[in-house]
Amino acid sequence: MKFVDAHIHLSDEAYKECVDEIIAEARNSNVVALVSNSMDLETSIRSLRLAEQYPEMVHAALGVHPWSVNALTEEALKQTIALISEKRQGKELIAIGEIGLDHNYATIWDKQLAVFNEMLRLAEKLHLPVIIHSRGTTTHIVEMLPSYNLKRVLLHWFSSPVSALSKAVQNGYYISEGLPTVFSNGIRKVVKRIPLTSLLTETDGPVRFSRPPFDGKRTTPALIPSVVKAIAEIKKMDEADVAEQLVRNFEEFFSVKLNKME
Ligand SMILES: [Zn+2]
Repeated sequence: MKFVDAHIHLSDEAYKECVDEIIAEARNSNVVALVSNSMDLETSIRSLRLAEQYPEMVHAALGVHPWSVNALTEEALKQTIALISEKRQGKELIAIGEIGLDHNYATIWDKQLAVFNEMLRLAEKLHLPVIIHSRGTTTHIVEMLPSYNLKRVLLHWFSSPVSALSKAVQNGYYISEGLPTVFSNGIRKVVKRIPLTSLLTETDGPVRFSRPPFDGKRTTPALIPSVVKAIAEIKKMDEADVAEQLVRNFEEFFSVKLNKME
């Protein structure tokens, strides 16, 4: 079986000293690809560098996360957009992410909205997939997206509400779920409702989970097989078939051909 991690922050400080180790662990666990998401200009540059350093294994998603909007300067936004446009033709860059809106940062709502719209316009112009953070804002985002001509939308760590989930699936959006699939009844219910062909797996590392069986351990792509096992249980399907479909979904969503021979 082969596995994929569609959403990890490999460019995060927390991984700085141990990327080699994480990649080796991932390979040993049959993880064949991961998408290094970015938060701002600095992590976007680092994600690209990681994709160059580990070709085939690491793919880069560049963008401005809603949590980074507060500190974002006009100049940094311009440079991020220029970098994405410049790298569009390269094979390292495969998506714009992580972008979105976060309800917990309501005091900077207007700036969040302006930056998110800017990122969506760029994705439309460059025909790139988008990876979206939608904490407390999923309904709003799902209503907003159809005004853009976006072919590929990934709502990462979707939790609620169910009404937005049906609409998202109807619109052809993909949903990625991670380690909570193993222990959270709420997420298991969501996974049950998502057709397997619209699902992707993620870790969102370095986010740590205090619940068993993860107990605050470092989050790495090597944990993806446990997510696939949980999905197979929920869907009452054969694990190998589920793993194969999830790899196919990754290839289709990001338009990449993965090396599955390793
Ligand atoms: Zn994330």
